Amino acid sequence: MPALYPCSRDEKEQGRVGILPEKSSSEEKYLMSQDIRIREIECKSAIGKCGFPGGGLCINPYVGCGHSCVYCYSRFMKRFTGHTEKWGTFIDARINIGQVLEKQMRSSRFRGQQIYISTVTDPYQTVEAKYGLTRSILKVLLNYENPVSILTKSDMVLRDLDLLKGFREIDVNFTITTLDERWNKLVEPNSPTAIRRLQAAKKLAREGIPVVAMMGPYWPVFTNAEALFGEFKKAGIGHVFTESFNTTGGNWTGVGKVLRSHYPQLLPEMQKILFNKKGFYGFYSQAGDKMRQASKKYEIPVTAYFGLGHAAKFK
Ligand code: SF4
Repeated sequence: MPALYPCSRDEKEQGRVGILPEKSSSEEKYLMSQDIRIREIECKSAIGKCGFPGGGLCINPYVGCGHSCVYCYSRFMKRFTGHTEKWGTFIDARINIGQVLEKQMRSSRFRGQQIYISTVTDPYQTVEAKYGLTRSILKVLLNYENPVSILTKSDMVLRDLDLLKGFREIDVNFTITTLDERWNKLVEPNSPTAIRRLQAAKKLAREGIPVVAMMGPYWPVFTNAEALFGEFKKAGIGHVFTESFNTTGGNWTGVGKVLRSHYPQLLPEMQKILFNKKGFYGFYSQAGDKMRQASKKYEIPVTAYFGLGHAAKFK
């Protein structure tokens, strides 16, 4: 989930719930071993307005996310869902979302609108193997002509290839920010590796499903645009989005901890770039040049959001 922008009121409302009894499965056991708690809840509404610049609708099958990325931009959701646990340690499965969506989609007010699955959770996180909520959403949407974009960090999306092939307009967006698997594992601890995402992208592209790469956050040190574009080209990725790292809203805290524990020598350099106006401008202006060069060389269009609004404060 790229979460480029603050979510809309509807995305916040999607967290309000009624709790059902807990059950357990192999996926849950894995997540419990990661100290992630899963609950089943019922939702009243499946569709919300999306906070992306172009608008559109969002469908979030889960509240919270077991991928537990340390920089996750969706952590603010806790303010609206009543969760007191640490972000990344809880997942609420909205188990009736397919039925609710089926009813809601009959309304003409949703006709033709762009739909994003999902904006404040990952639709193919580990528990999806058990619940199949994203699959139930796709089955409903197959009956409509809304353009659909899937945003994920997981190759589990391949499970639903049979459904994806039936859509008139659909694309799959993989977040892939680095080929450094050590860094990847530290900042996105429960997500599939970048290589697995690239392999999944290749399979989808070969099946005629348009694939987009979300190369964000564009990390100082760990993001290598040239190397990534080379892999994107091989995978058949048709468009690349990127953005500067948004340090606001506590997103820096977990990243700072990872750096202090595993890359202490890099901490001053990162801080100089992300918390210093000159450093930020200088770094992301060079990053912009690299993106343009790579885009030209590999003939993949790019859209970049390198904005100063992503900086918490400058010293
Ligand atoms: S995949 Fe990571 S960034 Fe996306 S919602 Fe889940 S925890 Fe957040």
